[in-house]
Amino acid sequence: MKQSAIETIGYDRCTGCYGCLNTCPVHGAIEFKLTDEGFYKPFVTNECVHCGYCQEGCPVIKKVNNNQEEDLEVYSCWSKDENIVKISSSGGIFSELAKIYLEDNGIVFGAKWENGEIVHTSISDLKDLKGLQKSKYLQSKIDNSYIKVKEFLKEGKKILFVGTPCEIAALNTIIQHKNLTTVDVVCHGIPSYNIYKKYISEVLKSDYRKIEVNFRNKETGWENYSITYKENERIIQEHLHGQDIWFKGFLADIYLNSPCYNCEFRTIPRFADITLGDFWGVPQELKNINGTSVVTLNSKKGKELFEKIKDKIEYKKTEFEIARRGNPCIYNHKLSKEKREKFFKDFPKKDFITLHKKYFPYPSKASKIINFPRRVLGFIKRRILKIVKGV
Ligand SMILES: Cc1cc2nc3c(=O)[nH]c(=O)nc-3n(C[C@H](O)[C@H](O)[C@H](O)COP(=O)(O)OP(=O)(O)OC[C@H]3O[C@@H](n4cnc5c(N)ncnc54)[C@H](O)[C@@H]3O)c2cc1C
Repeated sequence: MKQSAIETIGYDRCTGCYGCLNTCPVHGAIEFKLTDEGFYKPFVTNECVHCGYCQEGCPVIKKVNNNQEEDLEVYSCWSKDENIVKISSSGGIFSELAKIYLEDNGIVFGAKWENGEIVHTSISDLKDLKGLQKSKYLQSKIDNSYIKVKEFLKEGKKILFVGTPCEIAALNTIIQHKNLTTVDVVCHGIPSYNIYKKYISEVLKSDYRKIEVNFRNKETGWENYSITYKENERIIQEHLHGQDIWFKGFLADIYLNSPCYNCEFRTIPRFADITLGDFWGVPQELKNINGTSVVTLNSKKGKELFEKIKDKIEYKKTEFEIARRGNPCIYNHKLSKEKREKFFKDFPKKDFITLHKKYFPYPSKASKIINFPRRVLGFIKRRILKIVKGV
């Protein structure tokens, strides 16, 4: 009788990558459900035969990284297509990579909205690309995506799979194939669904199932992006990201998934062939104000794919340390868990606004006074933009 992966590592170290589910040979022996903290993690059912095979898909137990490249090629870049940059989080490099596959009969895996949560899905048609574009700052439910990757590879398809570093590490433990190219995002961590849902129901007075969030609305700028909540296609709330109190708690690392605080997968050598992020703190000479991506090419496969998009993008080579300066999450960044522990003890007993005031108060009185003129100007600018656009 062997231990399951989750019994071996425990819920605190489990990233919720779905690797165990995708390797379990017994249908129904592992179910993914929300934990009390609000992260999708595996629960072993009575169907389990204790074969221990699920350990083979757990990247915390079994790290597989054939990618030994330590000298990453680093670029600042963005798509030449302004419309793509506009609807992407950063410089739209994901879309340019995806187009190479979709125009050549290939398959792209990424994250999309479904009933108020995020799920991983595959697309084969350019018209479906829109659903995958943009960062969704919630856990994506991978479900049996890695099994589907295997099936597509058997059919001879070429695949591009995008996910967080832990998801790519899980995929690597299960499949390595010449026709599979992986992309991970520079990842700050994923916030709890339970906190997000509490915010939607108590502050927005809505049902999360009806809500879709544009976490990277660039109408106010790439660096000064807004968060827009839509219910049935109607905007019900829009704030600059620094003024959205739920987002504030996410950025302040109060309610991330436990292993994100000391992530084992945002490391070098990277697990993915290519890594995409925002080039925060980008020097002027490498910058596009509408969105600048930082791209690291981590393997031969990654470099070959990047060659194919070079005529579609503006790119400038730079150095890893320049990219890391403004974006610590790109490499081995450790976050403090101190407030998290207290927050999750308080969470079931207190309403969202009380928790916000106690753990991530914002704005403080001083910053309210200092930022008042900037907020008024921003408000006027947004109103004028809306009138000009006729919305
Ligand atoms: C949870 C999360 C945290 C991030 N943290 C940082 C950070 O701290 N610093 C930084 O520089 N960049 C971070 N990023 C990456 C950044 O936000 C952009 O996703 C990246 O720069 C790609 O932008 P793009 O313009 O090329 O394409 P976009 O069109 O914005 O592409 C986004 C890609 O990410 C995938 N994706 C979206 N949401 C998820 C999700 N929840 N799980 C898995 N995959 C998803 C989409 O399928 C798509 O492939 C984060 C992304 C996510 C999803």
